[in-house]
Order: sequence, then structure tokens, then C-alpha cells
Amino acid sequence: MVTKAVFSDPFSAPGRWFRGNLHAHTTNSDGVLSAKQMAFLYERSGYDFLAITDHGRLTDVRELSNSGFLAIPGEEISVGASEVGTAFHLLAVGIEEEVPAKEGDAGEDPQRVIGLAKDRGGEVILGHPYWSALSARDMLSLEGYLGIEVYNTSCFFSIAKGHSLSHWDELLARGRRPLGFATDDAHWHFNDHRPNDACGAWISVKAPELSLDAIMKSVREGLFYASNGPEIRDVKINGDEIQVETSSVSAISFVASLDLGERFAAVEGGAIASASYRLRGGERYVRIECTDSEGRSAWSNPIFFER
Ligand SMILES: [Zn+2]
Ligand SMILES: [Zn+2]
Repeated sequence: MVTKAVFSDPFSAPGRWFRGNLHAHTTNSDGVLSAKQMAFLYERSGYDFLAITDHGRLTDVRELSNSGFLAIPGEEISVGASEVGTAFHLLAVGIEEEVPAKEGDAGEDPQRVIGLAKDRGGEVILGHPYWSALSARDMLSLEGYLGIEVYNTSCFFSIAKGHSLSHWDELLARGRRPLGFATDDAHWHFNDHRPNDACGAWISVKAPELSLDAIMKSVREGLFYASNGPEIRDVKINGDEIQVETSSVSAISFVASLDLGERFAAVEGGAIASASYRLRGGERYVRIECTDSEGRSAWSNPIFFER
């Protein structure tokens, strides 16, 4: 039935797991902590890498890496105008020099900025589509971005618009293949009814070593999954069956194109740690999403089925 499953599979890829956040602000834009404090905080919290992505400027991260921690240069550039007039927030990571575009310029073409970031060795992630009120047409108007933020801690904690999962499925349903990133967008913002936006979400990347080249190569190839809590431990494709193992969660979902897919939930407060799904035949893609009792989730990148 299925001719070919196309999956950037981090679970069987060689190497080890490295956990990191690709979106953080410092005192060089609207963050509260210095780049050095931010790097120290993430390293102390068990992260292996962190991208500093200040608004409209490249923060120098060269002094922030050590043998066990990698700082990635980056920038968040807000330009252009969506259908409802909001800016596209383009997260440029792994860039070698500052992107020559004016922050906040509604007349700037976001497609040009994506090109400029890639010319500088970087990759572009479309930031927080739900928070930005981006339509499918807005997202489809651009090409060349590696993926979208399917979860953004700061957007969730501030205005409950952190999850951009239907945005992801919209793009996937239309034949695009964006990768799914979970990031913090950390500013060290919090108050008495809002948790701190640092160290909440991450991607787990499979790579041979902790270096800028190795992490960026694996990110580019999609060898990671995203999370703000649970772990995805294995995904196996055997013929027309997908088998998943996770940490203890309350539901595991196989989210697929159209009305296909299936959700497996632990009933009456129980927990599950594995599930399997048999393809029905019409799936263009299937992605795995698991959620724990606290409402935290992990998201695999999509598996595509070509017939
Ligand atoms: Zn933003
Ligand atoms: Zn941001």
C-alpha cells in the first residue's frame, strides 16, 4: 500500500541527544538578563545549547561556549506585513554575520530577509504563527524557511497563544514540509500570575558532537523532536504500522492529513508509554504528539508517505 515512508529519523541516527533552545533575548534587545547570564542559566538548567536571538541585532556569543555548552549566534527580525497587518517574526539561527535588514520595517520583503539570512550561513524559523496571527496564505507566501515554531513558551505564558499546531497542519496539508520547533522566546519575563518564560521548551537533537556545524547540520536535516516536557524515545515504521515509545504520558496521538490519524488516551487517570497506529492508506503525513497529565507535550517531525 505504502510505497515509501520519508522520515528524518533521529531515533535510529548515530550520535547522542543534545537539548537546546533556539530563541532567547538579552539586554541587547528586550530581555532582562545579559547574554552571559542567559547562557549560564541554560547551562545550569541542563541545556546543551542556546541560540541568542535579539531583535534586529546579532549578539556576540563567541565567549559563551565551553566544552559542554554551545552558544549559537542568531537574530530575530520582524519585517513585512501579514494579511491583518502584523509583522513576520523571522528567527535566523546559525548566521555568521548580522542580517542587513531594518528591524520593524513593514515595507521590507520577508522573503528577501530569509534569503539574506541563508546567505549568511543561517536557517530561518517562522516565529510563533498563532501569536503573530498569520494565516495559511501568509505562511504559504514565503519559501525557504526551515520550519515554524509549533510551541513558544513566552507566547503561551503571556497571552495563551503558544501552540501553532493547526498552523503546522495547514502547511503540511498543502504539501509543505516545515519542521516543528519548540522554543522559549525567553526574556526572563514573569509576574505573580505568569511563570518565567526561560527553560520551558526545547528541541532534542541527535548529533555526533556538540559543535555549531554538527548541531546546525542535524537541525537542518530534521534530526530532532520538540518538547516542553515529555520524551519521545523511539519511533519505528514497520510496513504500514508506526510504533512509538515515550516517557509516561496521558495521551499519544498520531496526527495525520485530513480526517485520518488517531489519539490513544490513558483512561481514568492512568498513564501510557507506547502506542501504535496502522496506516489506513490515505495518509500524506503522520506526526506524533504526546501529552502528559500537566498538559505538556512532545512533538515529532512529520513522517511523509509517498505513493
Ligand atoms: Zn517574536
Ligand atoms: Zn522573540
